[in-house]
Amino acid sequence: MIIARIGAGWYAVSFDGGLFCPAFTLFYYALLMPVPAFIQPPYPWFLTQWQQFVEQVRADRLPHALLLKGQMGIGATALAEAMAQFLLCRSPADMQSCGQCRGCELLSSSTHPDFLHIKPEEKSSIVKVAQVRTLGQFVANTAQQGGRKVIVLEPAEAMNHESANALLKNLEEPAGDTVFILVGYQVARVLPTIRSRTAQISLISPSESESLAWLERNQVSNAAELLNASGGTPLTAMQWFEGNTLEQYQEIAERIEQASMGQRSIVDAAKSLASHDLVNVMTLLQQWLQSAIRVNSAEQSDSLPLVQQLATLPAQALYQLLDSTQQRLAQLYAGSNPNKVLACEELLLLLQAARTAQAVPARR
Ligand SMILES: [Zn+2]
Repeated sequence: MIIARIGAGWYAVSFDGGLFCPAFTLFYYALLMPVPAFIQPPYPWFLTQWQQFVEQVRADRLPHALLLKGQMGIGATALAEAMAQFLLCRSPADMQSCGQCRGCELLSSSTHPDFLHIKPEEKSSIVKVAQVRTLGQFVANTAQQGGRKVIVLEPAEAMNHESANALLKNLEEPAGDTVFILVGYQVARVLPTIRSRTAQISLISPSESESLAWLERNQVSNAAELLNASGGTPLTAMQWFEGNTLEQYQEIAERIEQASMGQRSIVDAAKSLASHDLVNVMTLLQQWLQSAIRVNSAEQSDSLPLVQQLATLPAQALYQLLDSTQQRLAQLYAGSNPNKVLACEELLLLLQAARTAQAVPARR
Protein backbone atom coordinates (compact mmCIF):
# COMPACT_ATOMS: atom_id res chain seq x y z
CA MET A 1 0.00 0.00 0.00
CA ILE A 2 1.20 3.52 -0.77
CA ILE A 3 -0.14 6.93 0.14
CA ALA A 4 -0.58 9.17 -2.91
CA ARG A 5 -1.76 12.68 -3.56
CA ILE A 6 -4.65 12.65 -6.02
CA GLY A 7 -6.21 16.01 -6.77
CA ALA A 8 -6.56 17.94 -3.55
CA GLY A 9 -6.47 14.97 -1.20
CA TRP A 10 -4.22 12.23 0.06
CA TYR A 11 -5.40 8.69 -0.70
CA ALA A 12 -4.27 5.21 0.21
CA VAL A 13 -3.68 3.14 -2.92
CA SER A 14 -3.33 -0.61 -2.52
CA PHE A 15 -0.88 -2.55 -4.67
CA ASP A 16 -3.67 -4.14 -6.70
CA GLY A 17 -4.79 -0.67 -7.75
CA GLY A 18 -7.67 -0.26 -5.29
CA LEU A 19 -8.30 3.27 -4.08
CA PHE A 20 -9.29 4.04 -0.51
CA CYS A 21 -11.12 7.12 0.55
CA PRO A 22 -9.41 9.89 2.57
CA ALA A 23 -11.18 8.63 5.68
CA PHE A 24 -9.46 5.31 5.27
CA THR A 25 -6.17 7.12 4.75
CA LEU A 26 -6.69 8.85 8.07
CA PHE A 27 -7.49 5.52 9.68
CA TYR A 28 -4.36 4.05 8.10
CA TYR A 29 -2.22 6.81 9.55
CA ALA A 30 -3.89 6.79 12.94
CA LEU A 31 -3.85 3.06 13.57
CA LEU A 32 -1.43 1.31 11.32
CA MET A 33 1.27 3.93 11.09
CA PRO A 34 1.16 5.76 14.41
CA VAL A 35 4.44 7.50 13.60
CA PRO A 36 5.07 8.67 10.03
CA ALA A 37 8.54 7.52 9.01
CA PHE A 38 10.02 11.01 8.80
CA ILE A 39 9.25 11.95 12.38
CA GLN A 40 11.25 10.16 15.02
CA PRO A 41 10.49 10.67 18.68
CA PRO A 42 11.91 7.74 20.64
CA TYR A 43 8.41 6.36 21.33
CA PRO A 44 5.23 6.93 19.32
CA TRP A 45 3.31 8.30 22.33
CA PHE A 46 5.65 11.33 22.44
CA LEU A 47 4.80 12.46 18.92
CA THR A 48 3.04 15.69 19.94
CA GLN A 49 5.77 16.77 22.38
CA TRP A 50 8.40 15.93 19.78
CA GLN A 51 6.73 17.98 17.07
CA GLN A 52 6.39 20.98 19.38
CA PHE A 53 10.01 20.68 20.44
CA VAL A 54 11.31 20.51 16.86
CA GLU A 55 9.15 23.47 15.85
CA GLN A 56 10.54 25.52 18.74
CA VAL A 57 14.11 24.63 17.79
CA ARG A 58 13.43 25.54 14.15
CA ALA A 59 11.89 28.85 15.09
CA ASP A 60 14.72 29.53 17.55
CA ARG A 61 12.16 29.78 20.35
CA LEU A 62 13.33 26.89 22.54
CA PRO A 63 13.41 27.89 26.24
CA HIS A 64 16.88 27.50 27.76
CA ALA A 65 15.57 25.04 30.37
CA LEU A 66 12.94 22.31 29.97
CA LEU A 67 11.40 20.11 32.64
CA LEU A 68 9.91 16.90 31.25
CA LYS A 69 7.46 15.56 33.81
CA GLY A 70 5.69 12.23 33.67
CA GLN A 71 5.30 8.78 35.12
CA MET A 72 8.42 6.67 35.57
CA GLY A 73 8.69 3.85 33.04
CA ILE A 74 7.26 5.56 29.97
CA GLY A 75 10.57 6.67 28.47
CA ALA A 76 11.07 10.27 29.61
CA THR A 77 14.86 9.86 29.80
CA ALA A 78 15.01 8.52 26.25
CA LEU A 79 12.98 11.53 25.12
CA ALA A 80 15.42 13.88 26.88
CA GLU A 81 18.35 12.11 25.22
CA ALA A 82 16.72 12.27 21.78
CA MET A 83 16.16 16.00 22.30
CA ALA A 84 19.81 16.41 23.26
CA GLN A 85 20.89 14.56 20.14
CA PHE A 86 18.64 16.69 17.93
CA LEU A 87 20.16 19.83 19.48
CA LEU A 88 23.72 18.59 18.98
CA CYS A 89 23.22 17.11 15.49
CA ARG A 90 24.94 19.16 12.81
CA SER A 91 22.57 18.27 10.02
CA PRO A 92 19.16 17.26 11.35
CA ALA A 93 16.93 16.01 8.57
CA ASP A 94 13.28 17.07 8.74
CA MET A 95 12.31 16.10 12.25
CA GLN A 96 15.13 13.86 13.36
CA SER A 97 18.85 13.88 13.99
CA CYS A 98 20.94 12.40 11.16
CA GLY A 99 22.74 9.73 13.21
CA GLN A 100 25.87 10.14 11.05
CA CYS A 101 27.45 13.54 11.63
CA ARG A 102 30.33 14.19 14.02
CA GLY A 103 27.89 15.41 16.70
CA CYS A 104 25.74 12.25 16.49
CA GLU A 105 28.85 10.05 16.42
CA LEU A 106 30.40 11.66 19.51
CA LEU A 107 27.10 11.38 21.34
CA SER A 108 26.60 7.70 20.52
CA SER A 109 30.12 6.93 21.77
CA SER A 110 29.36 8.95 24.96
CA THR A 111 32.31 11.27 24.28
CA HIS A 112 30.57 14.48 23.18
CA PRO A 113 32.42 17.31 24.97
CA ASP A 114 29.35 19.57 24.87
CA PHE A 115 26.96 17.07 26.46
CA LEU A 116 26.61 16.40 30.16
CA HIS A 117 24.31 13.74 31.61
CA ILE A 118 23.87 14.09 35.35
CA LYS A 119 22.14 11.32 37.30
CA PRO A 120 22.67 9.62 40.65
CA GLU A 121 25.94 7.69 40.65
CA GLU A 122 25.83 3.94 40.98
CA LYS A 123 24.55 2.71 44.36
CA SER A 124 23.37 6.21 45.19
CA SER A 125 19.89 7.59 44.86
CA ILE A 126 20.79 11.28 45.04
CA VAL A 127 22.37 13.75 42.67
CA LYS A 128 25.29 15.02 44.73
CA VAL A 129 26.25 18.66 44.96
CA ALA A 130 29.73 17.86 43.59
CA GLN A 131 28.07 16.54 40.39
CA VAL A 132 26.03 19.71 39.96
CA ARG A 133 29.09 21.90 40.63
CA THR A 134 30.81 20.47 37.54
CA LEU A 135 28.07 22.31 35.67
CA GLY A 136 29.53 25.73 36.44
CA GLN A 137 32.66 25.14 34.41
CA PHE A 138 30.75 23.35 31.66
CA VAL A 139 28.36 26.27 31.25
CA ALA A 140 31.19 28.84 31.34
CA ASN A 141 33.27 27.06 28.66
CA THR A 142 32.75 27.75 24.97
CA ALA A 143 31.16 24.84 23.08
CA GLN A 144 34.01 22.73 21.75
CA GLN A 145 32.11 21.57 18.70
CA GLY A 146 30.94 25.08 17.90
CA GLY A 147 27.24 24.40 18.42
CA ARG A 148 25.08 24.17 21.52
CA LYS A 149 25.86 22.66 24.89
CA VAL A 150 23.24 20.37 26.42
CA ILE A 151 22.76 19.12 29.97
CA VAL A 152 20.33 16.32 30.84
CA LEU A 153 19.66 15.96 34.56
CA GLU A 154 17.46 13.18 35.99
CA PRO A 155 15.57 12.67 38.11
CA ALA A 156 15.17 16.29 39.14
CA GLU A 157 13.69 15.31 42.52
CA ALA A 158 16.88 13.38 43.35
CA MET A 159 18.69 16.66 44.04
CA ASN A 160 18.99 17.52 47.71
CA HIS A 161 18.74 21.13 48.87
CA GLU A 162 22.43 21.81 48.27
CA SER A 163 22.46 20.33 44.75
CA ALA A 164 19.26 22.14 43.84
CA ASN A 165 20.74 25.47 44.93
CA ALA A 166 23.88 24.81 42.92
CA LEU A 167 21.74 24.14 39.84
CA LEU A 168 19.67 27.22 40.48
CA LYS A 169 22.73 29.46 40.13
CA ASN A 170 23.30 28.09 36.64
CA LEU A 171 19.65 28.34 35.67
CA GLU A 172 19.57 31.97 36.75
CA GLU A 173 22.45 32.99 34.56
CA PRO A 174 22.16 30.82 31.46
CA ALA A 175 25.16 31.21 29.20
CA GLY A 176 24.71 31.45 25.45
CA ASP A 177 23.57 28.30 23.75
CA THR A 178 23.33 26.03 26.78
CA VAL A 179 20.10 24.02 27.05
CA PHE A 180 19.06 22.29 30.29
CA ILE A 181 16.72 19.31 30.01
CA LEU A 182 15.48 18.13 33.41
CA VAL A 183 13.43 14.97 33.85
CA GLY A 184 11.14 14.65 36.87
CA TYR A 185 8.77 11.94 38.11
CA GLN A 186 7.71 13.76 41.27
CA VAL A 187 7.87 17.35 40.16
CA ALA A 188 6.08 18.61 43.29
CA ARG A 189 9.25 17.72 45.17
CA VAL A 190 11.47 19.87 42.98
CA LEU A 191 12.42 23.27 44.41
CA PRO A 192 9.74 25.80 43.28
CA THR A 193 12.44 28.26 42.19
CA ILE A 194 13.79 25.59 39.81
CA ARG A 195 10.33 24.77 38.51
CA SER A 196 9.59 28.40 37.82
CA ARG A 197 12.77 28.80 35.77
CA THR A 198 11.97 25.90 33.45
CA ALA A 199 9.36 25.36 30.75
CA GLN A 200 7.38 22.35 31.98
CA ILE A 201 6.38 19.72 29.45
CA SER A 202 3.79 17.17 30.61
CA LEU A 203 4.27 13.69 29.24
CA ILE A 204 0.96 11.82 29.07
CA SER A 205 1.29 8.09 29.75
CA PRO A 206 0.52 5.91 26.72
CA SER A 207 -2.86 4.17 26.59
CA GLU A 208 -3.04 0.43 27.19
CA SER A 209 -3.50 -0.27 23.47
CA GLU A 210 -0.56 1.97 22.50
CA SER A 211 1.66 0.24 25.06
CA LEU A 212 0.57 -3.23 23.99
CA ALA A 213 1.10 -2.45 20.32
CA TRP A 214 4.62 -1.17 21.06
CA LEU A 215 5.53 -4.18 23.24
CA GLU A 216 4.21 -6.61 20.65
CA ARG A 217 6.13 -4.85 17.87
CA ASN A 218 9.21 -5.45 20.02
CA GLN A 219 8.48 -9.18 20.27
CA VAL A 220 7.55 -9.18 23.94
CA SER A 221 5.67 -12.46 24.36
CA ASN A 222 3.57 -11.98 27.51
CA ALA A 223 2.99 -8.27 26.87
CA ALA A 224 -0.43 -7.95 28.53
CA GLU A 225 0.67 -9.69 31.73
CA LEU A 226 3.87 -7.64 31.98
CA LEU A 227 2.07 -4.39 31.26
CA ASN A 228 -0.49 -5.03 33.96
CA ALA A 229 2.12 -6.01 36.51
CA SER A 230 4.14 -2.88 35.77
CA GLY A 231 1.16 -0.63 36.35
CA GLY A 232 0.78 0.20 32.66
CA THR A 233 4.33 1.42 32.07
CA PRO A 234 5.64 -0.11 28.83
CA LEU A 235 9.34 0.51 29.44
CA THR A 236 9.24 -1.10 32.87
CA ALA A 237 7.38 -4.03 31.25
CA MET A 238 10.12 -4.26 28.63
CA GLN A 239 12.82 -4.15 31.29
CA TRP A 240 11.16 -7.00 33.19
CA PHE A 241 10.81 -8.99 30.02
CA GLU A 242 14.50 -8.56 29.22
CA GLY A 243 15.64 -9.18 32.79
CA ASN A 244 13.17 -12.04 33.33
CA THR A 245 12.15 -10.42 36.61
CA LEU A 246 8.35 -10.59 36.30
CA GLU A 247 8.09 -13.31 38.98
CA GLN A 248 10.02 -11.23 41.48
CA TYR A 249 7.65 -8.29 41.00
CA GLN A 250 4.59 -10.49 41.06
CA GLU A 251 5.76 -11.72 44.43
CA ILE A 252 5.95 -8.14 45.71
CA ALA A 253 2.40 -7.49 44.44
CA GLU A 254 1.13 -10.70 46.05
CA ARG A 255 2.65 -9.93 49.45
CA ILE A 256 1.17 -6.42 49.47
CA GLU A 257 -2.21 -7.76 48.38
CA GLN A 258 -2.25 -10.58 50.95
CA ALA A 259 -1.27 -8.24 53.79
CA SER A 260 -3.78 -5.52 52.95
CA MET A 261 -6.57 -8.16 52.60
CA GLY A 262 -5.62 -9.67 55.98
CA GLN A 263 -4.71 -13.02 54.38
CA ARG A 264 -1.17 -12.81 55.68
CA SER A 265 0.19 -11.13 58.79
CA ILE A 266 1.78 -7.74 58.23
CA VAL A 267 4.95 -8.79 60.06
CA ASP A 268 5.32 -11.84 57.86
CA ALA A 269 4.60 -9.97 54.61
CA ALA A 270 6.98 -7.15 55.61
CA LYS A 271 9.79 -9.66 56.21
CA SER A 272 9.22 -11.12 52.77
CA LEU A 273 9.09 -7.66 51.12
CA ALA A 274 12.27 -6.60 52.90
CA SER A 275 14.21 -9.22 50.93
CA HIS A 276 13.73 -6.95 47.89
CA ASP A 277 15.30 -3.59 47.17
CA LEU A 278 13.30 -0.96 49.06
CA VAL A 279 13.44 1.57 46.21
CA ASN A 280 12.00 -1.13 43.91
CA VAL A 281 9.17 -1.92 46.33
CA MET A 282 8.27 1.78 46.72
CA THR A 283 8.56 2.50 43.01
CA LEU A 284 6.30 -0.43 42.19
CA LEU A 285 3.74 0.58 44.78
CA GLN A 286 3.83 4.10 43.38
CA GLN A 287 3.16 2.77 39.86
CA TRP A 288 0.34 0.52 41.06
CA LEU A 289 -1.28 3.38 42.97
CA GLN A 290 -1.05 5.62 39.91
CA SER A 291 -2.69 2.86 37.84
CA ALA A 292 -5.38 2.41 40.51
CA ILE A 293 -6.12 6.14 40.31
CA ARG A 294 -6.52 5.81 36.54
CA VAL A 295 -8.75 2.71 36.90
CA ASN A 296 -10.71 4.50 39.61
CA SER A 297 -11.40 7.43 37.31
CA ALA A 298 -12.29 4.95 34.52
CA GLU A 299 -9.44 6.05 32.26
CA GLN A 300 -8.00 2.57 32.14
CA SER A 301 -8.90 -1.04 32.84
CA ASP A 302 -6.35 -3.16 34.60
CA SER A 303 -6.35 -6.84 35.42
CA LEU A 304 -3.61 -6.97 38.04
CA PRO A 305 -5.57 -8.09 41.16
CA LEU A 306 -3.68 -5.69 43.42
CA VAL A 307 -4.49 -2.70 41.20
CA GLN A 308 -8.14 -3.74 40.98
CA GLN A 309 -8.24 -4.06 44.72
CA LEU A 310 -6.58 -0.68 45.27
CA ALA A 311 -8.95 0.92 42.76
CA THR A 312 -11.90 0.15 45.03
CA LEU A 313 -10.56 2.66 47.56
CA PRO A 314 -11.88 6.22 47.41
CA ALA A 315 -9.79 8.55 45.25
CA GLN A 316 -8.83 10.65 48.27
CA ALA A 317 -7.38 7.61 50.07
CA LEU A 318 -5.44 6.65 46.93
CA TYR A 319 -3.93 10.12 46.64
CA GLN A 320 -2.97 10.04 50.33
CA LEU A 321 -1.33 6.64 49.91
CA LEU A 322 0.45 7.84 46.78
CA ASP A 323 1.71 10.88 48.63
CA SER A 324 3.01 8.78 51.55
CA THR A 325 4.73 6.39 49.14
CA GLN A 326 6.32 9.25 47.21
CA GLN A 327 7.48 10.89 50.44
CA ARG A 328 9.19 7.66 51.46
CA LEU A 329 10.71 7.30 48.02
CA ALA A 330 12.00 10.86 48.18
CA GLN A 331 13.58 10.12 51.58
CA LEU A 332 15.30 7.09 50.07
CA TYR A 333 16.49 9.24 47.18
CA ALA A 334 17.78 11.75 49.71
CA GLY A 335 19.98 9.04 51.18
CA SER A 336 17.96 7.81 54.17
CA ASN A 337 18.66 4.22 55.09
CA PRO A 338 15.72 2.98 57.18
CA ASN A 339 15.23 -0.43 58.72
CA LYS A 340 13.75 -2.30 55.74
CA VAL A 341 11.37 -4.55 57.65
CA LEU A 342 10.01 -1.64 59.70
CA ALA A 343 9.64 0.56 56.61
CA CYS A 344 7.64 -2.21 54.85
CA GLU A 345 5.51 -2.82 57.94
CA GLU A 346 4.71 0.86 58.17
CA LEU A 347 3.66 0.95 54.53
CA LEU A 348 1.47 -2.15 54.83
CA LEU A 349 -0.20 -0.70 57.93
CA LEU A 350 -1.07 2.42 55.96
CA LEU A 351 -2.61 0.31 53.19
CA GLN A 352 -4.56 -1.76 55.69
CA ALA A 353 -5.78 1.38 57.45
CA ALA A 354 -7.04 2.77 54.14
CA ARG A 355 -8.98 -0.45 53.51
CA THR A 356 -10.43 -0.55 57.01
CA ALA A 357 -11.49 3.09 56.85
CA GLN A 358 -13.38 2.23 53.67
CA ALA A 359 -15.03 -0.88 55.15
CA VAL A 360 -16.15 0.83 58.35
CA PRO A 361 -17.39 4.35 57.60
CA ALA A 362 -16.51 6.80 60.37
CA ARG A 363 -19.32 7.39 62.88
CA ARG A 364 -20.70 10.86 63.20
ZN1 LIG B 1 23.71 14.24 13.19
